[in-house]
Amino acid sequence: MARGGMRVLCLEKNHCIGGMATTTELVRGYRFELAGSVQFPIPTQIYDDLDLGACPIYEAEVQSVGIGPSAHRPIGRFDVRTPPKSLNEMFASTTNEVEREAIRTAMFGSVMDVIDRHLPERQKHAQIRGMLAFLSVNSTHRGPYDAGSAMCLAFALSSPGDVTMSNVKRGIGTISDHLLTQFETAGGELRRHVKVDEITVDRGRVTGVTLGDGDRITAPVVVSNLDPTATFTNLINRDVLSEVFARRVDTIDHRALYFQMHRALSGLPEYADQYAVPNDGDARQCVTFIGTPEQMQRDFEGCTQGLVPRSPSVNLSTPTLRDPDLAPPGKHAASNFAFYAPIGATHDEQATLRDEMADRIVATITARAPNFPETIERQCSYLAYTYERMFRYTNAIGTSLTSSPSAPDLGAGPITRFRSKTSVRAALAAMDGRGSHSLLATTAGMRS
Ligand SMILES: Cc1cc2nc3c(=O)[nH]c(=O)nc-3n(C[C@H](O)[C@H](O)[C@H](O)COP(=O)(O)OP(=O)(O)OC[C@H]3O[C@@H](n4cnc5c(N)ncnc54)[C@H](O)[C@@H]3O)c2cc1C
Repeated sequence: MARGGMRVLCLEKNHCIGGMATTTELVRGYRFELAGSVQFPIPTQIYDDLDLGACPIYEAEVQSVGIGPSAHRPIGRFDVRTPPKSLNEMFASTTNEVEREAIRTAMFGSVMDVIDRHLPERQKHAQIRGMLAFLSVNSTHRGPYDAGSAMCLAFALSSPGDVTMSNVKRGIGTISDHLLTQFETAGGELRRHVKVDEITVDRGRVTGVTLGDGDRITAPVVVSNLDPTATFTNLINRDVLSEVFARRVDTIDHRALYFQMHRALSGLPEYADQYAVPNDGDARQCVTFIGTPEQMQRDFEGCTQGLVPRSPSVNLSTPTLRDPDLAPPGKHAASNFAFYAPIGATHDEQATLRDEMADRIVATITARAPNFPETIERQCSYLAYTYERMFRYTNAIGTSLTSSPSAPDLGAGPITRFRSKTSVRAALAAMDGRGSHSLLATTAGMRS
């Protein structure tokens, strides 16, 4: 917009820019990618327009996996500058039955409908089945066998042509900083510590915004990058919305059973016995412990009843292996995401579930890397929706990684010392020795 000649003012309530795509110092001397970490495939047009090639990335050893015929085109996953297609429009744009079937599966099928079709052999394809299921549903409120979950596979893991996922040097915040430079170079103005309280409307037209301190800014166009629920229920008076539109916003389900931890490590986990392979080179940069899709489904179902998985599926990334400046010399900044983390009904219950989940994640890793607990200097754990509470980011935007509308008011302190080794031992014992995972997979970046 700034490049197109408009006067653009960007209002950010925090000091730090980038929202969920921020690299930030959570522990003194250690910088972490707060939430997002992988640059998902971006339509070429957008990539070029924003000159994203200027952001340094890591070359992945394995780039991507293609299974089955592509359904990008009818679904419109990589269409730019056009409104999303309705279901009818998607079907109307198909040219053959394969594409129509792909839409039906993406909309109404499960991740496992797709995986079973293309990678049916449970033993032979075990790792790739587990990894694809893991990566598809990790940010959702779905198990890999749930109807509708196939869309996660189509959306999250599809890539057009040779476009791939990548990791960005100095973390995903590099992209946000790059965009800010572009914005300011084009004449845009950023104001930090300015919270928008309301988008004002007069006779059906937006007129500007009201700020937290009561000031008003007029503008003929207001663009909100908050999620639709936050924008159309918190910032705009609902009475100005059409009934049908307001109802559609109400039906958006923001739940996610995602759990993230960041850790300051004094050293690296040493994987033992048959798990020692990642110790070579920088393979420990990204290690994933995945259960079978069946186990993930059981974990999801248990989680919706308030049960913490015995041995959660976990990804552990240690970007300092390639980007040592993110931590003090010789030390490491590591992050993991895992699921499924149940959402408690009360503050106390939530804190208990969070700590139990954290212990089970550590136990899952410790079962393969026995020195892991000794390497942890500090750790912080976040459920998906605590980002709003702790960092004042509104429900994660534009993705399914968002706050639970039913989430209680939480105030848990994010940074904790490592909890007692006794609790991790108890979690290890609960896992029956090495736990129920049959697989260990290492990936370059997040590719499998
Ligand atoms: C845990 C997690 C992991 C993720 N992993 C990935 C990943 O690996 N790869 C990927 O591509 N995507 C990932 N995502 C999604 C990605 O982070 C988001 O899609 C992206 O950050 C959305 O950008 P945004 O600017 O629209 O919104 P946000 O990043 O949420 O930014 C919103 C900004 O608006 C500000 N703001 C909010 N309310 C107000 C207000 N009232 N007034 C003024 N300012 C306000 C916030 O402070 C924030 O800076 C992840 C998300 C989460 C939560």
